[in-house]
Amino acid sequence: MAKEINTIGVLTSGGDAPGMNAALRAVVRAGLHYGKRMIGIYNGYKGLLENDMKELTYRDVSGIINRGGTVLKTARCKEFLTAEGIQKAADNARAFGIDALVILGGDGSFRGALELSKRGFPVIGIPCTIDNDIGCSDYTIGFDTALNTACEAIDKIRDTCSSHDRCSVVEVMGRHSGYLAVNVAVATGAEVCLIPEKKFDLSDIMDKIKETTQKGKTHFIVVVAEGVGGIEFIAENVEKQTGVETRPSDLGYIQRGGAPTVKDRVIASKMGLKAIQLLIDGVADRVVVYKKADIVDYDIVEALATKKEFDNPLVELADILTY
Ligand code: ADP
Repeated sequence: MAKEINTIGVLTSGGDAPGMNAALRAVVRAGLHYGKRMIGIYNGYKGLLENDMKELTYRDVSGIINRGGTVLKTARCKEFLTAEGIQKAADNARAFGIDALVILGGDGSFRGALELSKRGFPVIGIPCTIDNDIGCSDYTIGFDTALNTACEAIDKIRDTCSSHDRCSVVEVMGRHSGYLAVNVAVATGAEVCLIPEKKFDLSDIMDKIKETTQKGKTHFIVVVAEGVGGIEFIAENVEKQTGVETRPSDLGYIQRGGAPTVKDRVIASKMGLKAIQLLIDGVADRVVVYKKADIVDYDIVEALATKKEFDNPLVELADILTY
């Protein structure tokens, strides 16, 4: 990196995730600790295009470590997807005196960061998404909180299912990834879990329900990943073919909110510090990642090219334990 970094901008982009505020706090306070000027950019890349930014002090990030969402707000910005938009964003950042940017978001946001880096703008990405779908990182900020929220909700659904001898077909978030679904299925003891990474037949669900009914089960949870969808159709078919009263439930956006768990706060704090230390050491165009319980960094191009290997043993585990 040629130029010394004196002023660092930070923004949150794409879907929000609990723990973004904890990461923001860490980035800002670590930057200030090392004597850097810190600039907060509102509404993701949109804020760069609209010059919606301001200098941040220690006090601006007080009292946010425990808050869900993002105090910087987040947005999906179409104008930034154009070559002119990216150039304008880089020019605006430079005109504001920003020497490097820390981007808190998912892989869409990192693709945007890569475009800025191609135009000579130093960037560091921090993975924040409840989906845990970033290839190079074993973990993304927000995943643990979403997992606990979904788990708590399904435990409650289970209570009413058991009182009425019903089946609930519950959709959990995760976009194209089954990570959230399979972890929540193991944690709630769901009888069936449908994820996009594993082929299934609707008759598998019926077989499992019939088989476990013979073993004395009277209530059932079918976890369906967002990437599979169709909970109304599945519920209708389960009821028709098994005779068990069945209801669809979509957990929806409650999974994106709420106070971050300790795990998310601690990892966000470590990643925020790491992002700043990289810039202090003159390293840029990296994504901070969680690998084998350690916080390391990957080249942003390599990070975006890495496909996530799916945690298949968990699928098997869920199946083994729920008869
Ligand atoms: P996430 O970061 O959560 O994956 P998105 O995929 O919606 O969320 O991306 C967030 C924003 O990042 C987009 O609104 C857009 O401004 C920017 N972005 C996404 N993909 C690209 C790309 N290929 N080139 C430039 N910017 C992008």
